[in-house]
Amino acid sequence: MAAFGTVFMPKMALTTFENNQWGQAQTVAADSIQLHPGAHVLHYSSTCFEGLKAFRHSDGSVHLFRMDQNVKRFAQSSRFLSLPAIDEAQVSKMIVDIVAQYAADVPLPPGSMYIRPTHIGTEGAIGKAAAPTLSSMLYVLLSPVGDYFAGGAKALRILLDETGMRCAPHMGMIKSGGNYASALGPILKAKAEVQADQILFCPNGDVQETGAANFLLIDGNEIITKGLDSSFLHGVTRSSILTLAADLGMTISERNLTVRELLERAAKPGVEAALSGTAAVLTPIGTFIHNGKEIKVGSGEAGPTTQKLRQALNDIQWGKAPDTHGWLTKVC
Ligand SMILES: *Cc1c(COP(=O)(O)O)cnc(C)c1O
Repeated sequence: MAAFGTVFMPKMALTTFENNQWGQAQTVAADSIQLHPGAHVLHYSSTCFEGLKAFRHSDGSVHLFRMDQNVKRFAQSSRFLSLPAIDEAQVSKMIVDIVAQYAADVPLPPGSMYIRPTHIGTEGAIGKAAAPTLSSMLYVLLSPVGDYFAGGAKALRILLDETGMRCAPHMGMIKSGGNYASALGPILKAKAEVQADQILFCPNGDVQETGAANFLLIDGNEIITKGLDSSFLHGVTRSSILTLAADLGMTISERNLTVRELLERAAKPGVEAALSGTAAVLTPIGTFIHNGKEIKVGSGEAGPTTQKLRQALNDIQWGKAPDTHGWLTKVC
């Protein structure tokens, strides 16, 4: 099976913003775009993206999961980056239409079609370090993906970092390219030095998130996760898991969590910790690494509540449980 995100459908949906307006959406080849070498995005990182999935149900129908949330966040990211305001209705239609065109290629569960809307500043103007791009390009790429957990859900090793930051604090809730480049140096260092899979960024002891996923602590009947503020990305998976956990009668505590409290709780038997995101849904954490010490979370293996919550979310996405929250959009 090819690595996640390396296979693309041959065509994508694309529109451009020029002369103060969006053009008509087109279906174009997905293997190249043309850009001026001085394009704003290449110099000043005016770029944001989204990640959502389409799922095939057993009756053959194809459904998007919470597209409205991703389109809203895409609009917000574009706004915070001073990119042209997106037309949410147009983008939603581009997503639905391109997925409909490739409906036959949407994999069966546990696979899905990963959808990557992308918005970039295209004005060729290298004097605009402190000015917004006047033109932009927005496209919707499709990538069929397999089972993220092929070979079993291996519990992750996570380094707790109290000194670094994932990105500038005012950029946390923006799904923008520069943030990932910003986190890469520390992540590669953690991989090389302590064989960590990811860093959980906890500036001044405040538990935030990893490079591309939100963090959840599960202690008995309670889920603890940081309350929404501008310092981290507001995941759609995070919000969906919290909703399903509340449906199951769990207590949801959205509040700040310190490294100290995290480590005190993690050492207790039966505690679980997990990362949430569209790509991997809910991934168990087996070990924290902190100041040279290794702390096992619960048994150190994937826990039952993490598995139950992931299954509850997958069941809705795969049409095996009723969509009581109206999260699915039928494409065809
Ligand atoms: C995309 C992303 C997430 C997860 O968001 P979902 O909407 O659940 O996919 C969390 N953190 C970061 C930094 C992200 O980029």
